[in-house]
Amino acid sequence: MYQANEKRYETMKYHRCGTSGLMLPELSLGLWHNFGDTGVYENMRQMCFTAFNHGITHFDLANNYGPQPGSAEENFGKILKNEWYAYRDELVISTKAGYDMWPGPYGTGGSRKYLIASLDQSLKRMGLEYVDIFYHHCMDPETPLEESMEALAQIVRSGKALYVGISNYDGETMKQAAKILEELHCPFIINQNSYNIFNREIEKNGLKQAAAEQKKGVISFSPLAQGMLTNRYLNGIPKDSRVNTDGRFLHAKQFTQERLESIRSLNAISADRGESLAQMALKWILRDGIVTSVLIGASRPEQILENLKVLNSASFSEEELKKIDACSLE
Ligand code: NDP
Repeated sequence: MYQANEKRYETMKYHRCGTSGLMLPELSLGLWHNFGDTGVYENMRQMCFTAFNHGITHFDLANNYGPQPGSAEENFGKILKNEWYAYRDELVISTKAGYDMWPGPYGTGGSRKYLIASLDQSLKRMGLEYVDIFYHHCMDPETPLEESMEALAQIVRSGKALYVGISNYDGETMKQAAKILEELHCPFIINQNSYNIFNREIEKNGLKQAAAEQKKGVISFSPLAQGMLTNRYLNGIPKDSRVNTDGRFLHAKQFTQERLESIRSLNAISADRGESLAQMALKWILRDGIVTSVLIGASRPEQILENLKVLNSASFSEEELKKIDACSLE
């Protein structure tokens, strides 16, 4: 039976999510990969407990995480039920709906029908009465923004989520959503977007600046570019890496000669700083204080321990930032 480390709050840094009352750990753990039907239960359990033992209190899910869609929530629910539930009030659990989940017109998008039904299913799979944060997973141009936002507000009023967030929105649409949610007195506190040295889309589509201006939280997903920004692929593609074990979203063809050179140059910069590439890549996201939490994934507990070293990383000099820009292919 799991007993949490008594020292779990001694080293983690917590940042306020926007102007809300909620504090999030500098590092959060996402269950997109390695928690589905094809994962190993004991490994999932060890990853959750390693994270929590070091102060990682935030765990991020979505209705469709698997494979099979829904299985990551089921496995997370199993860990909770079996031996973690006593710590429920120390956990911030999030889930989402937006992408394809079940067949037909009501299992995708941003309708009130889909969002509310999907959260009910997620709660059942996880064995929870409420989630801490519920997200609309992606923009849906086919559904009026008012409808999706009203669904989020209804979800909070019904007690099934404490806070809401939006994911993969651009700056302009986020501002419109924020206005609607404010009128509805709905606690919209966080944006979840991809952000890393190789993907700076939120700097281009206005999201990062808008979040800072509106004092909303930002949690960056795929901060290691799914493992590209680590030592994993420096010398070829390992058998047990995401490219080989789960080819859904990261492919060997993405490792062009140019990309590999870029990874190796970044690795040299991190070595000069006396840290790993993963550690430097995570610190880079946190460099200006706008991002609230970096949302890592992991395939084993040791990676979580390695990534926790970001807590001790030094800030960057102007020269280091320029060097990183010069070899980031951005
Ligand atoms: P990362 O960029 O952190 O990639 C994680 C992968 O990188 C691991 O599975 C592992 O791959 C490798 N890795 C991690 N740490 C190390 C290390 N120290 N050394 C070597 N390799 C390492 O994040 P993800 O892409 O997994 O995304 C994180 C979370 O973000 C998701 O779980 C999900 O919660 C969220 N997300 C949200 C999305 C959205 O639309 N809102 C979309 C995508 C993600 P390997 O298997 O090769 O060991």
